Amino acid sequence: MNTGAAPSEDDLLVVKSGTTLPPNTKITPMLRQWLAAKAKAKDAILLFRMGDFYELFGDDARLAGGVLDLAVTSRDRDKGDGAMPMAGFPHTAAPGYIARLIAAGMKVAVCDQLEDPALAKGIVKRDVTRVVTPGMVLDDESLDARSNNFLVAVVTGAFDDGSDDKHRFGLAALDVSTGELLCTTASSEAALVDEVQRLAPRELVVDDALAQPLVARLVGDTRPGLPARRLERRTAPAKRRLVDALGAPDAWLLEAPHRPALLAAELALVYAEETGQGVLPKHLRSPVAFSLDERLLLDTTTRAHLELCGPSGDLRRPGTLLWHLDRTKTAAGGRRLLRLLLEPSASLVEIEGRQDRLAVLVDDAGLRARLLEQLTSLADVERLVARAANGRAGPRELWRLGQTLLRLPTIASLLFEHEPWALLLSPLGMSIEACSVVSEVLDRALVADAPQALGDEHVFREGYDLDLDALWLLTTDGQGAIAALEAKERDLTGIASLKIRFNNVFGYFIEVTKSHQAKVPARYVRKQTIANGERFITDELAALQEQVEGADSRRRRREAELFAALLQQVRDHARELSTLATFVADVDAVLSFAEVAVSDRCVRPAVLPKEKRCLVLDEARHPVVERLCRERGESYVPSTIELDGERQILVVTGPNMAGKSTLMRQVALCQLLAQAGAFVPAKTATLSLCDRIFTRVGAADDTATGRSTFMVEMTETSHILRGATPYSLVLLDEIGRGTSTFDGLAIAWAVAEHIHDAVHARTLFATHYHELTALSASLDRLKNVHVVVKEWGDDIVFVRSLADGPAGRSFGIQVARLAGLPVTVVARAREVLAHLEGDDIPAHAAPTKGLPRSQRRPSPTAPQMSLFGGAPAAEADVVVDDRLVKFAERVKAVDVNRLTPMQAMNVLAELVDQARKG
Ligand code: ADP
Ligand code: MG
Repeated sequence: MNTGAAPSEDDLLVVKSGTTLPPNTKITPMLRQWLAAKAKAKDAILLFRMGDFYELFGDDARLAGGVLDLAVTSRDRDKGDGAMPMAGFPHTAAPGYIARLIAAGMKVAVCDQLEDPALAKGIVKRDVTRVVTPGMVLDDESLDARSNNFLVAVVTGAFDDGSDDKHRFGLAALDVSTGELLCTTASSEAALVDEVQRLAPRELVVDDALAQPLVARLVGDTRPGLPARRLERRTAPAKRRLVDALGAPDAWLLEAPHRPALLAAELALVYAEETGQGVLPKHLRSPVAFSLDERLLLDTTTRAHLELCGPSGDLRRPGTLLWHLDRTKTAAGGRRLLRLLLEPSASLVEIEGRQDRLAVLVDDAGLRARLLEQLTSLADVERLVARAANGRAGPRELWRLGQTLLRLPTIASLLFEHEPWALLLSPLGMSIEACSVVSEVLDRALVADAPQALGDEHVFREGYDLDLDALWLLTTDGQGAIAALEAKERDLTGIASLKIRFNNVFGYFIEVTKSHQAKVPARYVRKQTIANGERFITDELAALQEQVEGADSRRRRREAELFAALLQQVRDHARELSTLATFVADVDAVLSFAEVAVSDRCVRPAVLPKEKRCLVLDEARHPVVERLCRERGESYVPSTIELDGERQILVVTGPNMAGKSTLMRQVALCQLLAQAGAFVPAKTATLSLCDRIFTRVGAADDTATGRSTFMVEMTETSHILRGATPYSLVLLDEIGRGTSTFDGLAIAWAVAEHIHDAVHARTLFATHYHELTALSASLDRLKNVHVVVKEWGDDIVFVRSLADGPAGRSFGIQVARLAGLPVTVVARAREVLAHLEGDDIPAHAAPTKGLPRSQRRPSPTAPQMSLFGGAPAAEADVVVDDRLVKFAERVKAVDVNRLTPMQAMNVLAELVDQARKG
């Protein structure tokens, strides 16, 4: 009857657990328990608590053993389990090991013992107590204090929302460690990818309708190895169960166009619920929706080129904007500041509100000092609340939380009298109230610097709970209580020799000698007669005995109860508390802006609607380069720059090292800071809102993707030309550098024309192609500016200020000299240059304005005409020696900045060789 038999319950369990057991494995009760836990843990690595160890079995042992460097053995000793691979580590080391598994992108399920093994009858009860994934962590070991830990959920589909293009993406970012849930809708794949990259998630959840190539792109472009999981999407509105559970979402989120955002939020919550063993964490706040139209969008390339922050793990790398700007005092403030910089606003109302609040702080040094004092050494409330609400905080953490909560209302009260702040504070009344309630409870309950965990030390203050106090008294002073009873009984009976004694058979008893038997009261119950007396017990003694003996375990139980009640208090108020904490994080971030505004002498920019399309910066500075200059004892030279509908494109020329790239970044950073709500490093600033900033800077090889410099350059340039609008700010630094002179010049030329005629974005165009300055003759809204340098004898001096008009000439040789090229090389180069310049290559006229566009372009059939400082010549009869052209081309191809002395010698030898042959 073997083959036809219905599968046993054990067989079913094995199937559900998804494990293959070694053949002939006997299913012991312990193994059965493990299989049940494994069935719950699903694809997670299961840590199975056995005594003082967490053990891993089967594939889990192999997988995790590799990551954790654990010895993997098999359980031969215990025949019942066959040859299951197994590995383990002491339970005290769990936080570190879990963090390492998470860092490797793994999902971990922890199966704990649910009862005290000493008291358990039979096998100890065990169950999965928590599941941790990279995007769902609460513990500090796996978190970066100063950045968010986002789980990003993406849904896709055709949403009938009345717009033309019904295909949309919904995106939600859940940071379970702080309780925040953000969501938005993206209308294109590119917008989706940019946004996901900006959020730098630790884990991705996508609905099963998302095409695999897009998932691969999201992962590949964000971070190789990013764990991505597919979940079933729930489309029906009735399935908005979890979002609704968090309280009413923003009204506008319920409108049709935002349905994708809402569905993404739901998907993130489904995942949170699933990892929470069917329970949604209690501290999550309702989704906050934002529109990408109300953000200044910065693509990944731009964020990198502007050096806003370092890579994850090194966000505040020296030399980055974040490094310079971050003066926040709290971790939450640091997280807030980072978000403000990566995601500046494009909403005038929002920006002006922030500016108003910032102005209050900039103008009031006393207030700044008081706030700084209050913010210093505050605990991370958002994260502590998250842990407490999920039962993962210990007494020390709760105590820290309580101390911090005591101070939050003070911070609020410092700001209440200032109107711009009061506006923000008025809806926070409930939060402040909750904060006072909880902080008061915690302060009353917990001893100062309470221990890390419940155990042998006092956690609760005396007087907080009378039962607990009595239990402590009994445990520490059990003998005293007995002695007190003994004294009382002597008194009552008048038997001076009455004694309370203890033995292992009866426990406590009262002993009275024979001579006093007559005085023994009726309430004494005889237990035993001994040679010279009798032993009794009384109800009171029995009660006391029970108390003394069980006191310690009851004391622990009572403490656990009281502690759970405290956690419950925090849980009940979790949302209000984190809302206030988020407000304080914002105060910290704005205060940081204020400190920088004061120390960097920044100005409040006048921000205009985007339609004005203007940018006027008077004596602006690059905040980071200025600081670096200062540290070197140099001073930074400010520059004044103006862009608008009429001055749409500025071609910036000047020799290498003059400061062109710095100038361009400075303009972009001022725009970005203004839209982040900060003040800008300038004497005065008037800026209209931008929708996007694009940059194409530098020409370093992108070795990571294996694409050539030129390919990268062109990909980025085409991305800009397709994405930029009349409201965008575009920075093009040395485009065309990655290819041959003529190709490069031709492309740069055409790009400038296209931006001028079709894109209309305000653009700064730094170039080493002097020829491009001629464009001003044909393009009305294109102007030339140059970074000033002065000649000083044979040397040049970088003046670094900006002036109208094209740069006089190239100072390549002087720069080469400054860079330390051998004197002989420099001298010979001068000769060659003189020779070349002396050869009567005409200074060319600019293309004639008004010619049909086709005739304005530099003609590829006459490449020699744009060799030295000019656009195509008007006269066609100029004949240039072909060898000379080759020679000149070789010289021009030399990038003196990158030349090693050895390479310089080789180039020179080659040139000399060529010249002699010619
Ligand atoms: P370019 O792009 O013209 O080659 P960079 O913008 O890279 O020049 O500037 C080169 C260096 O000059 C910078 O690293 C910085 O140290 C310095 N520099 C640039 N602009 C200024 C300025 N306005 N004031 C002082 N130093 C500057
Ligand atoms: Mg440069």
